[in-house]
Amino acid sequence: MNKDSFTELEHDLFKRNGKYAVMGTSFALVHLFYLIFFVKINYLPMAFYNVISVVGYMFFGMSCAQGVRFKQLYFFCMIEVPLHSVLCTLLLGWDYKFMLFMFGMIPISFYIALFIEDFKHPILIPAISSIFLTILYFVVRVAGENVPPIMHKTVISKYEYYFTYLNTFFAFFMILSFSLLFSFEFNYIQKKYATENITLDTYASYDTLTGLLNRRSIDSHLDQLYKEHYHDEEGFSVIMCDIDHFKSVNDTYGHDAGDYILKEVASVVSSEVRDNDIVGRWGGEEFLIILNKDKQTATKLAERIRAQIETHEFNYKTTSLHITLTLGVSSFHNGADIGSLIRSADKKLYRGKENGRNQVVS
Ligand code: GH3
Ligand code: MG
Ligand code: MG
Repeated sequence: MNKDSFTELEHDLFKRNGKYAVMGTSFALVHLFYLIFFVKINYLPMAFYNVISVVGYMFFGMSCAQGVRFKQLYFFCMIEVPLHSVLCTLLLGWDYKFMLFMFGMIPISFYIALFIEDFKHPILIPAISSIFLTILYFVVRVAGENVPPIMHKTVISKYEYYFTYLNTFFAFFMILSFSLLFSFEFNYIQKKYATENITLDTYASYDTLTGLLNRRSIDSHLDQLYKEHYHDEEGFSVIMCDIDHFKSVNDTYGHDAGDYILKEVASVVSSEVRDNDIVGRWGGEEFLIILNKDKQTATKLAERIRAQIETHEFNYKTTSLHITLTLGVSSFHNGADIGSLIRSADKKLYRGKENGRNQVVS
């Protein structure tokens, strides 16, 4: 399948599966390394243990690549690593630093659990596991003081000696890499949601057909202006515009022609208003303009819009249409409320319709 044809969800799943598959494979590689080490120093039971680990991680890693057995990978890892560490410590002794892996497992357990979608307790289980790992560390520490290593060696080769450093390094590497992974992932998710929120906000605020603000946004603008102008003398004005005989456009030329007219009217109205005026689609073929100006200025603007629409050429496919608008203008003054302001503009609009349409009533 071409990667471009992935839906976003499929792409996210693809990334998630891949990530867990890489994790499983990395764990398998680390255990392969230990397998070689144990063969080399002739500790065959642990070599055998690591054969099982390698097979297990490969199996769960491959399963994750197919989108299954994420939880099993988690639990396998949470049992296998502590068991490996305890066995190695009992066999070889505390000095080999295998118990440091308990600390390395803490960020890993939180990371893996948090990003498995159907994990029921993605915080509680890693938290309990982490407490268990900490207790285990101290139990083995105390036990190690009292019980000598099973495979006690009086002479430790240089090779084995360096191995203790390697274990310490791996433990720190686990903490560092998974903390980094966690931060990157968190950062990515935050950015993704911020972008999605902007998109959703845009969808929720604008009318999809005309691109103007929708009724919901206009209402919130009106509420805002009401709060700002409640006490002052200046006030603001609204112009309610309604396309004349719009139903007959739909009936004669079809709904698509009606949509074209709506878009075209919206664009003419938008081009006539100033940048800080607010234009929105109030209803089907009704538009509302809000401007921070007095009634006289608003009436002039309404008249300019009416004249522009009357002379504008509306060419739908091969048909040229003649469209007119009727507009009602009303101003807000202190003491009034938004409802009565809109009702007043509506009444004037209605009067304009009764008086023959294609006119401004203020
Ligand atoms: P008047 O001059 O009295 O305003 O008459 P009118 O025909 O414009 O008014 P009426 O309220 O009778 O009809 C409005 C029509 O607008 C009816 C409805 O189908 C149409 N309409 C509403 N929304 C849309 C839309 O999104 N697209 C299209 N094409 N038509 C719409
Ligand atoms: Mg109407
Ligand atoms: Mg109409």
